[in-house]
Amino acid sequence: MPVRMLATLTALAALMIYGFGCSDSTPSGNADSPPTPASGTQQAESQLVGMIDDERIENAASEPGNWLAYGRTYEEQRFSPLSQINRETVGQLGLAWAKDMGTNRAQEATPIVVDGILFLTSSWSRVFAIDALTGETLWSFDPQVPGAYARKACCDVVNRGVAVYKGRVYFGSLDGRLFALDAKTGEEIWEVDTLIDRTRAYTITGAPRAARGKIYIGNGGAEFGVRGYVTAYDAETGEQAWRFFTVPGDPSLPFEQPELEAAAKTWKGGEWWKIGGGGTVWNSIVYDPDFNQIYLGVGNGSPWTRAIRSPGGGDNLFLSSVVAVDADTGVYKWHYQTTPGDNWDYTAVQDMALADMTVDGKERKVLLQAPKNGFFYVIDRSNGELLRAHPYAPLNWATHVDMETGRPVENPELDYAEKEKWVLPGPLGGHNWQSMSVDEEGGLVFIPVQQNSFIYGLSEEFKKTGLYKAVADRFNLGVEMGRVVQHFVNNLDTWPAPKGFLRAFNPLTGEVAWEVEIAHYWNGGVLATAGGLVFQGDAFGMLKAYDKETGEALWEFNTYTSMLAPPITYAIDGVQYVSILTGTGGGDLFSGAPLPPFPNPASLDYNNYGRLLVFKLGGDAKLEVPKARDMTIPEQEMADLSDAQIAYGEGLFHEYCAECHGLATRSGGVIPDLRQMSTETHARFDEIVLSGLLAPKGMAAFNDVLSAQDATFVHEYIRARAHEDREVALGNQAAPRWTWMDSAE
Ligand code: CA
Repeated sequence: MPVRMLATLTALAALMIYGFGCSDSTPSGNADSPPTPASGTQQAESQLVGMIDDERIENAASEPGNWLAYGRTYEEQRFSPLSQINRETVGQLGLAWAKDMGTNRAQEATPIVVDGILFLTSSWSRVFAIDALTGETLWSFDPQVPGAYARKACCDVVNRGVAVYKGRVYFGSLDGRLFALDAKTGEEIWEVDTLIDRTRAYTITGAPRAARGKIYIGNGGAEFGVRGYVTAYDAETGEQAWRFFTVPGDPSLPFEQPELEAAAKTWKGGEWWKIGGGGTVWNSIVYDPDFNQIYLGVGNGSPWTRAIRSPGGGDNLFLSSVVAVDADTGVYKWHYQTTPGDNWDYTAVQDMALADMTVDGKERKVLLQAPKNGFFYVIDRSNGELLRAHPYAPLNWATHVDMETGRPVENPELDYAEKEKWVLPGPLGGHNWQSMSVDEEGGLVFIPVQQNSFIYGLSEEFKKTGLYKAVADRFNLGVEMGRVVQHFVNNLDTWPAPKGFLRAFNPLTGEVAWEVEIAHYWNGGVLATAGGLVFQGDAFGMLKAYDKETGEALWEFNTYTSMLAPPITYAIDGVQYVSILTGTGGGDLFSGAPLPPFPNPASLDYNNYGRLLVFKLGGDAKLEVPKARDMTIPEQEMADLSDAQIAYGEGLFHEYCAECHGLATRSGGVIPDLRQMSTETHARFDEIVLSGLLAPKGMAAFNDVLSAQDATFVHEYIRARAHEDREVALGNQAAPRWTWMDSAE
């Protein structure tokens, strides 16, 4: 079908679905018709693919059949006016088609839908243009990220999506390149290296944003030791327009931006610039047409612990802040810091939404964010004034936010400088990047909330020596990772039970209108619609539609695959569709398999099938029920090592391996479970770990940090853990001992 005709049908369909009763359903301007080429020349219809100009994207709200920007519109509320699928009809919702995306790693992308085409990314930064009616791949593009680069990524080889703008598709690759592709053909137009220092472990996982002729992109890497910044590029040429550093660099060098001089005064006594400082903007960058400004959601400190990063105290600006900069120049306008002196990986990179709200009787243009630290912020976009800061998630690190000073009041009992402490939220946050949805009219925000603590302890090495040495391409957290299992075991009696919630939260009053408890914390993003529904996929593979007024589950579909990605909705030819990518992983690889009695996510019971699923009313396609995963642990050939040697391997495993393969060798089902290694894999263990035999698949060599002797100790620790879990499964042993560290003192 010609794209122009398709677009017209989409516009008609949108009208039909949107309903005639809604006052703002009338298309205005060019919003519902394909844009006319500026030159006025006759352009072939096929060249209109992805022709989203500034006017069209700024009026994205008037195209309910499309999903033109990351959060649907520049406001990023992820609330769709489509209502064909509603409380009454949702019972007839069924699978229209499913597409195998050829991956078993996490998929996190929000597809952009424009005129009948889905533009999305999958794992390893691969890009797809897919016919939104049939699932046919129109083109795909693979940036060929080197497999070994996976070691530089804290949180899986994920990507959260593309920007589509003026006939081009923009995306960032895991290894830090920004691409412009032809939206029609997928051919590369330009590529730029966004990294300031390739010796540091920078990654891109976030979706770029496009506005005002520019493409905006940040990066990740604060766990490894990098300095955060955001760059704006000319959309046409790829030329750099401006760059904004989020933290000060080496104080002996000139400041790149005037406000960094003041920011540097809030960093005291340490040598943060050698480690990096952190403050990466790895997820949320929002353009605000009302003020022509860009909001940067700034990440955590690097290392996590302020005792190492800034031993003299200080707020460490602009860590864990929302920073507003001018869209054209990148010049600083204002900031609000959610967590001064961050000590817990409390990023403020979580999705930001823009809204108009009446606050205390006054009309305000507000920014809404539920960052990791557990408080929900309502901020005046004109000047950064804090209007509300109610807790939306279970937390204990602070008692409240003092509304006079705008600062959180920390709980001194949870200072972990001397002894390890359970802190809520942990590094995965009260809410992570999984998107929330804003019902502006209903005054509620639907948030995927997490109750997931972490046992924070200051690095033992640092406590003993007062020295901290950052190492390239590995976690540099300053938090004790080697002894984390021992800390866990020693404090098991006070462990706050992990769980998740979907919460309908009132950002002005702090009230929870309703909540649904989910027996796992790591669930998917949220979509709300004018059909009165809230859609979410969960860790157990269930895609559900809840009544947005009550939280009652009105519909569910078993995808047999854990989900993280947010659902989206679009309409073509009078039919509304709901779409979601399946497959978990991301930042939760470290936590691994839940401990009994907590139930297994679908990724453990089955496999992690990366699919694109599309639903419509009356859809009757079927998903094959996958075979249950074989969890048998083979018999182990144990070497005759001392407890002290195995304990040494335990420490190394949690420094270097657990981040992907899971705490105590218990994989969450995405990355191979090392307890299940075959005889052949055991035989090649050193080749894999030291020589990089499987580097093309993402398992890089670790010979820069592990000696052959170290590899043997790690190997034997894995065997010891496998052996005891096998014995427990066979009923020969009551419970695992978990840690060898106590006996190795
Ligand atoms: Ca982080």
